Amino acid sequence: MEGHPCELYEPLERGKVRCTACSHYCRILPGQSGICGIRQNQEGKLFLLVYGKAAAVNLDPVEKKPLFHFLPGSSIFSLGTIGCNFGCSFCQNWDISQAARSIRTRLMKDQRPELQGVEVTKFGYDLPPKRIVELCLGKAPSIAYTYNEPVVFYEYLRDTAELAHKKGLKNVMVSSGYESEEAMLGLHGLIDAMNIDLKGFTDEFYRQVCLATLEPVLRTIRRARELGIWVEVTTLVIPGKNDSDDELRGIAEFLASVDRDMPWHLTAFHPDYKMQDIRQTPLATLKRGYRIGKDAGLHYVYLGNVMDEEHSSTFCPECHELLIARQWHDIRIASLRKGTCGKCGHAIPGVWA
Ligand code: SF4
Repeated sequence: MEGHPCELYEPLERGKVRCTACSHYCRILPGQSGICGIRQNQEGKLFLLVYGKAAAVNLDPVEKKPLFHFLPGSSIFSLGTIGCNFGCSFCQNWDISQAARSIRTRLMKDQRPELQGVEVTKFGYDLPPKRIVELCLGKAPSIAYTYNEPVVFYEYLRDTAELAHKKGLKNVMVSSGYESEEAMLGLHGLIDAMNIDLKGFTDEFYRQVCLATLEPVLRTIRRARELGIWVEVTTLVIPGKNDSDDELRGIAEFLASVDRDMPWHLTAFHPDYKMQDIRQTPLATLKRGYRIGKDAGLHYVYLGNVMDEEHSSTFCPECHELLIARQWHDIRIASLRKGTCGKCGHAIPGVWA
């Protein structure tokens, strides 16, 4: 057997299984893997092929996730594996996120899908949960599961998150928001913050560009807030794809209906992967989105991937005092005092200590 036994799945008839880690709920035949390419049915049991195998590891500023209301100015130990449940044509980490899918396509062509386990487990550094936590201690107060969609490596994430919490570290998921209810409940109490992508506001966009659907993402954003997780939302604004007033207003009004205090990051697109023919997002488009967010009643809207201190800093929604100034990933605490505005005392939501 290759990999590590999965917990999130159900056995079906004739050796098939149904994976319950994400909202695709793949039904997987013996010898085959799900859409993400890293959860494989081996003789009627599901195995995670990338357990303890990190494909990318970095010490990042937490602002890069982006999280602006979560331990500002701190470093975050960041890791991801190969494999993803989305197939976004603009993915900036496509070399790892789509690697398992490419292997599966090749093996299917060769009619050898059962070799997926052998091929996928060759990727990545050996990094078991205990070692991640050891590396993190004394260097960073939190761990981010990021680069690819973390719920696809649920068992690796969950075991690491549990150990991390025992050692006083916090856990962050940077997610496309496709977690199943089973995964959300399994991770309950272990995840301190999430940055969830809301990549567009139509099913058409999600189907065509991401090979997924919209509704599960909206559900995850609501659910994460209900479960008490600190949530910030990111939209990569792509010219001609999701930058119309209607689309941005739809996102902003949805977020405001969940929680007006939930930060919304509007980030600039740069040509990548299969989207090389689209230009970079103009600053004026991002500023239009900023205005739409504010008009919808959101208290904290931020621009990203651009140098614009005014629109990436935090101001008190009550008295408009500058609380945290930001330039790219550099920050300066201005009037924020223990999570409150130093001028008027208004409580600023987030995780500050
Ligand atoms: S994690 Fe999602 S994409 Fe991967 S096998 Fe499970 S249901 Fe399918």
